[in-house]
Amino acid sequence: MTPHFLPTLVNPPFGDPGLYLDFLFARRAILFDLGDISPLGARKLLRVSDICISHTHIDHFIGFDLMLRIMLGRDKEIRLFGPPGIMRQVENRLHSYSWNLIQSYPTEFILTVTELHPDGSGARARFSSKRVFAREAQEELSFPGGVILEEENLRIRAAFLEHSIPCLAYAFEEKLHVNFMKNRLTELGLPTGPWLSQVKRAVLRGEPDDTVVIVRSEAGDRDGEGLSIAELKEKVLQVVPGEKVAYVTDTAFTPENRRRIVDLAAGADYLFIEAVFLHVDAERARDRAHLTARQAGELAREAGVARVIPFHFSPRHLGAEKELRREVAEAFSISPSPSGRGPG
Ligand SMILES: [Zn+2]
Repeated sequence: MTPHFLPTLVNPPFGDPGLYLDFLFARRAILFDLGDISPLGARKLLRVSDICISHTHIDHFIGFDLMLRIMLGRDKEIRLFGPPGIMRQVENRLHSYSWNLIQSYPTEFILTVTELHPDGSGARARFSSKRVFAREAQEELSFPGGVILEEENLRIRAAFLEHSIPCLAYAFEEKLHVNFMKNRLTELGLPTGPWLSQVKRAVLRGEPDDTVVIVRSEAGDRDGEGLSIAELKEKVLQVVPGEKVAYVTDTAFTPENRRRIVDLAAGADYLFIEAVFLHVDAERARDRAHLTARQAGELAREAGVARVIPFHFSPRHLGAEKELRREVAEAFSISPSPSGRGPG
């Protein structure tokens, strides 16, 4: 399966947390957390359409200013999601600068902020450079099932975790993965052209198999032949479940958090999860509401993910990267002990 998305950590594992999810066939990316984002550079930051904030401890939010700096002076819209208080925090950040010149810019930067609440409700408002970042168009919303973003072929879900303050974990899901087998198209003498994206969209929308699509060449000189979605699926289409990427950071290892993480990350292709301390420091981890490497590995195993990528290592363990990774990997691969460690 040709991947459509490439998730990578913004920093090495001892650096600030953050995940950059690049869309390989579109000029677009989704960013999880805004710590030190300088390694991304302007070109990658300009692809960002959505930013999902876990919480606003400084190592997850200090990059807000750099993001703002890069977006200013361009026609750009960004959606930002975050936990309770994020609206006021963004507003305060925006209003901590003098903007006497910004209204004369020919461009408009719009930041749409969605604040999520643990009861499934939320608030959304817009801040535009054209109106000196005044809060506008505020509306109250609800997010059933924790779904905060739903598009034709993707979905982002959020789950609240306890980290001495509320902290959000996120799962990005591609609904279906639709590919054309190019060699089969050629063999059947079917032309490429806009009709292919029409078919793709119809499949993604879940249109019935007897829906007929008219084959048209790029130049439009081969009109007429109609093929049903069922025939296309049989002959030239590859339709498989899409990819899933989960991002879990800054969370206590409580039974409720464990249940929510396993539910959110279930079956993910990639689980990016904090592994702050070695397990010998489990007590410290509990005090600071963080996971140990072993706990991260256990959660990855319980969630049945394909790959686990640990990050957010404590500077306390500088020089012990191998041990941290080994702890995660061992807990991820071992079968549950008979003492009954299971989903909690
Ligand atoms: Zn934190």
